[in-house]
Amino acid sequence: MADASRPFNNVLVIGAGPSGLLLALLLKQKGINVHILEAAPELDGQPRAAHYGTPAIPEFYRAGIIGKIASEGLVLNTMCWRSSVDHSRTAGFHAGVLKDVDGQDLRTHCYVLQDLDKLMLDEFLKLGGTIDWCAKVTKVGQDEGGKAWADVEGREQRVEADYIVGCDGANSIVRRSLFGDEFPGFTWDAQIIATNTYYDFEGKFGWDDANFIIHPENFFMAARITKDNLYRITYGETPGLSREEYIARQPAIFEKILPGHPKPDEYKVITISPYKMHQRCAPKFRVGRILLAADAAHLCNPWGGLGITGGFVDVGGLFDCLVGIYEGKADESILDLYSEKRIEKWKTIIDPISQDNFRRVSDKDPATRFERDEWMQALKKAETDDAYRKELLLGFMAVRYDFTQHYHRK
Ligand SMILES: Cc1cc2nc3c(=O)[nH]c(=O)nc-3n(C[C@H](O)[C@H](O)[C@H](O)COP(=O)(O)OP(=O)(O)OC[C@H]3O[C@@H](n4cnc5c(N)ncnc54)[C@H](O)[C@@H]3O)c2cc1C
Repeated sequence: MADASRPFNNVLVIGAGPSGLLLALLLKQKGINVHILEAAPELDGQPRAAHYGTPAIPEFYRAGIIGKIASEGLVLNTMCWRSSVDHSRTAGFHAGVLKDVDGQDLRTHCYVLQDLDKLMLDEFLKLGGTIDWCAKVTKVGQDEGGKAWADVEGREQRVEADYIVGCDGANSIVRRSLFGDEFPGFTWDAQIIATNTYYDFEGKFGWDDANFIIHPENFFMAARITKDNLYRITYGETPGLSREEYIARQPAIFEKILPGHPKPDEYKVITISPYKMHQRCAPKFRVGRILLAADAAHLCNPWGGLGITGGFVDVGGLFDCLVGIYEGKADESILDLYSEKRIEKWKTIIDPISQDNFRRVSDKDPATRFERDEWMQALKKAETDDAYRKELLLGFMAVRYDFTQHYHRK
């Protein structure tokens, strides 16, 4: 039932990935009607994000899900870069200084995406939120001065809403409806393979929670994702091969690059998926009543876990903007600011840092990387200086932007 006292009554979220689910949950907690359209019959099970960086953590507190993430998942305490020759530690940090920042534990949290998605979906449904599975959106649009609408494959009737938010990932149909194939940026001429693998890096080799091994071809990351020694091992591969070829080559690569040179009976690969990497940002995140967030709006390579970390920060900002309008504390122009500020943050922080992260791990001359790398040198210096380390690590909070500062003053 429409409430005439409110500036708007409902939001349609396209996509039940992490960004769509967090936005839907936050809005529903504020009493705003939200419906989700999801193309798939169930939540996505691919091995993707697992680590959520410092800037995203305040959104988990707001959504009331931090307790479960912390108790069922992990916090990332130690992280380093290692030599590919002898795997010795080049530089790194202990994140303990972020354990209590004004009452919040801002260390990177780790909780596999499928579990996080399920947690957010369950909370959303408990509040009476609604979702249509197998509802593939084919086009979105808006009527002059009226509602936004979405066409769903195989359905005659359009789904209407006051606002539509495209949280439909890298191939977003919402973004394509607004801008066609325009998605400025580039695709890396590189191939990565992401696996979830049981191998005891810590127990056998004393490795950190997250480890980046620098090498032009044999670069890889090994980061713990569950308490029982499941690690995300992501490594570089030759571009242009088939999925079957990548799977067949994996045992020889692990034997070559991993510490201990293990044979297949010494580890257990649970999932394996090849990925291409992109750095791209949509021209705008708002056109009238249609908005974009997370991968639908921007993409970056996964080295350093800035993808959905930035996406969750978008969602938190968009939530503040929509709530501001809903509660009469802001007018619609705040949505233009959402677009402007989130694009600025992506271009000035997320894009350059994530590019640096990939160039660092795949450096052509690993032996001299440290001498050329101000960030690694700063972290080395910070190893014995808690205050400086805290300052460096909290620097990432600059990805956030507080839209409530633009609410009307009383
Ligand atoms: C190997 C790898 C590791 C990563 N690790 C990290 C990490 O540790 N930390 C991090 O921050 N990021 C990481 N990322 C990035 C992260 O996984 C993505 O940023 C994140 O999944 C994007 O979430 P999203 O909700 O925007 O989109 P998606 O997760 O892509 O979800 C989009 C949803 O929309 C649905 N959908 C698509 N089209 C339609 C349509 N037409 N109609 C209806 N529904 C539709 C899809 O089915 C899907 O459910 C990683 C990525 C990769 C590839």
